[in-house]
Amino acid sequence: MKITEIFENRAVFSFEVFPPKTDAGMDKLCGAGGVLEKLYTLNPDYISCTYGAGGTNVGKNLEVMKKIRSDGSCTPVTHFTCIGNTREGIREQLQTYLDSGIDHMLALRGDLPFGWTGTGGDLHYATELVKFVRKEFGDKFTIAVAGSPEGHIACRSLEADIGFLKQKQDNGADYIMTQLCWDMDQFRYWLDAIRAAGIWLPVDVGIMPILDMKATINMALSRNGCVMPRKLCELISKHWIFPDPFVSDPFDANVEQKKADFKEAGIEYTIRQIDEYRACGIDGIHLYALNKYDDVARIAKESGIIDL
Ligand code: FAD
Repeated sequence: MKITEIFENRAVFSFEVFPPKTDAGMDKLCGAGGVLEKLYTLNPDYISCTYGAGGTNVGKNLEVMKKIRSDGSCTPVTHFTCIGNTREGIREQLQTYLDSGIDHMLALRGDLPFGWTGTGGDLHYATELVKFVRKEFGDKFTIAVAGSPEGHIACRSLEADIGFLKQKQDNGADYIMTQLCWDMDQFRYWLDAIRAAGIWLPVDVGIMPILDMKATINMALSRNGCVMPRKLCELISKHWIFPDPFVSDPFDANVEQKKADFKEAGIEYTIRQIDEYRACGIDGIHLYALNKYDDVARIAKESGIIDL
């Protein structure tokens, strides 16, 4: 079933995974009894898989997508970027996805690899990619696009960013998947602003579970410039690992306990954040599963999103 048809009736619930770099990682994700098969038991509507910068993990992405497709428990959605891709390359890759039965995609510009100043490909923005896919493939793909409630880190203004999001809709996008945003006041402002700008696409909210301090700080600051609310900052300070959570040999005597306590508090924080998002009337929750099951399953069950 097309994801857009589900949006017409109820909120959508989905997971995001990434293509592992090693064979052992692939086996853990895609093998018999692996993470994917466990995630299916939570009945997600779709599972998306990221697409690496410069196409480094394209093969593994396709393998993960094919596995989800052949298991038949939910819809596979591939992420796809402009990075390093020519028009011809995009056409060929997308045809391969279609030939493999994968007809849902998240059309992105892509994260620029370190040191790059542009995409290094024929297309420069997600707006162009959406237009190109519609021109080449008509309605064969259901197309999601990224939306940034705080504004993309490189945008000249939030208003300009919203204008480009409207352009993605006008070029044929079907729904929006949001960038991580912990600042709920900003999210509400953005939601009102995009509706006022004439963007009516369903909004599927991306949620990164707060499980690990380093990953949380990295995700917020290495690329996205996310605001961390006071409560989240308190949580990080309270469980801080000395001298800092990035060193490989902390002198803190209590490292393991602090990590466990941080994770517990982070899971509660994530569940409350999902409550707040649902109260905004959003159209879906997209949980970054981080290729894990247990903690993610707990969040999905306790927040109630598996019964949307
Ligand atoms: P765009 O919408 O193209 O915007 C990029 C910047 O250019 C913005 O500042 C925007 O304001 C500006 N802009 C947009 N259109 C125009 C235009 N026509 N003219 C001038 N300026 C314009 N990255 C990956 O590499 N792989 C992944 O798998 C991946 N998965 C993601 C999943 C989700 C749910 C999200 C939200 C992001 C993901 N990303 C991924 C990150 C994403 O690629 C980056 O945020 C990237 O920096 C921007 O992508 P975009 O599609 O939002 O870009």
